[in-house]
Amino acid sequence: MIRRTAVQTAAEVASGETTAVATTQAHLDRIAAVDGDVHAFLYVDAEGALAQAARVDAGELTGPLAGVPLAVKDVLCTRGLPTTVGSRMLEGWRPPYDATVVARLKAAGVVLLGKTNMDEFAMGSSTEHSAYGPTHNPWDLTRIPGGSGGGSAAAVAAFEAPLAIGTDTGGSIRQPASVTGTVGVKPTYGGVSRYGLVAFSSSLDQAGPCARTVLDAALLHEVIAGHDPADSTSIDAPVPPVVQAARRADVTGLRIGVVRELTGEGYEPGVQERFDEAVELLTSLGASVSEVSCPHFGYALPAYYLIAPSEASSNLARFDSVRYGLRVGDDGVRSLEEVMSLTRAAGFGPEVKRRIILGTYALSSGYYDAYYGQAQKVRTLISRDFAAAFGQVDVLVSPSTPGVAFELGAKVDDPMAMYLQDAATIPSNLYGGPAMSLPVGLSQGLPVGLQVMAPTMRDDLLYLVGGALEQALLDRWGAPLLDCAAALPTHAVATHVPETS
Ligand code: GLN
Repeated sequence: MIRRTAVQTAAEVASGETTAVATTQAHLDRIAAVDGDVHAFLYVDAEGALAQAARVDAGELTGPLAGVPLAVKDVLCTRGLPTTVGSRMLEGWRPPYDATVVARLKAAGVVLLGKTNMDEFAMGSSTEHSAYGPTHNPWDLTRIPGGSGGGSAAAVAAFEAPLAIGTDTGGSIRQPASVTGTVGVKPTYGGVSRYGLVAFSSSLDQAGPCARTVLDAALLHEVIAGHDPADSTSIDAPVPPVVQAARRADVTGLRIGVVRELTGEGYEPGVQERFDEAVELLTSLGASVSEVSCPHFGYALPAYYLIAPSEASSNLARFDSVRYGLRVGDDGVRSLEEVMSLTRAAGFGPEVKRRIILGTYALSSGYYDAYYGQAQKVRTLISRDFAAAFGQVDVLVSPSTPGVAFELGAKVDDPMAMYLQDAATIPSNLYGGPAMSLPVGLSQGLPVGLQVMAPTMRDDLLYLVGGALEQALLDRWGAPLLDCAAALPTHAVATHVPETS
């Protein structure tokens, strides 16, 4: 049961071939068996999951994903369930309301298994910045599962859940997808509601689907997307036809641009090789592939590391020891300022403090124009690069990440090396357009991801390309890539995916 796609499970539940309760129990058993090793979950809600599954079996909830289990990144508010954002600051906090994404999932009969591990406040690329210990990559437990949404990606890759929700501010859905051999999509900014999503960088944050197949991701995308009056940046327009595109899966005549600035130097040879082969495959499927230059993409990383920390320094000011979560040193003698200072010193980890200090500095008078103002100008130049590129081609492609999953501990003391993980993913966040990572093979026995980027509100194009590429690779390999993930004892070991074509 745990190996089924979401589409298969939903069909079997709808036809009565299986029940939502049995499917949910199978996933809870899987979590019990492997999550001690993987640590994808911070909280498992067995009781709530089985109750929701029973409602589906009773016919109270229906829909294309009714009865399908799912894991939620712990950055989204879930009424009555712990929501920590990977931080000590919110330990023990149970929100009094559901995020819009969560409410829509529940109404669609999706079964919420629990909350997944993440870098504190979604700042990081490895989950090593979680206050609750790292998540391990199911392909190799000594390696990182990516971040910040490493828990969601690992849960999907380890067959603990067929679907998960992540959030992507600079790559936190796509980079974990890339290094775990799963599919991850950052929708168009404003395409999915941010209401109830604990804010990191409000102009960049976007929730999106994590899955094992492109069609599963599309179905999840369709359930969570669409206008929400509770989010002022939500786009009031029809959801792009993502499911239809995933089913069509045809790139005949599509113009695909390879971003010159996101290849070559800085990318591991094995990653570059798998990427080049996938591009060749797209050509053989009838796409017209050309090289496109986006000259300002090289400045995306520095611009992001001014804009994101600036917004974070402002957003995280609300954790003031008075309104939410942790309070330290409130002995009736100390001043409010002292209590606030002690609380923030104890409640935030080193990466969060680094970002708050960086952002506060960049926004301070005298430096604002030189840093934050400059970064915003660079952001505009990057959007213009996208606009110019989309005048020539329909979608852009690049490797999703510079390398495969690295060893736990390898970069945790080197912030710059960690930040470089997102060189290819950050441009789409700055621009606001949608982007997908999907698996295209192995290098050193570890998954390699290819990124597809599309114009804003053309999320359907991601699924068109992703669906076609996925099918062609499946034909080549004869089985899904994830069947090769051998780190878990209960995984079937297969070696059918060649490292070279
Ligand atoms: N790794 C990036 C960062 O640390 C992106 C994080 C994210 O997308 N939430 O900011």
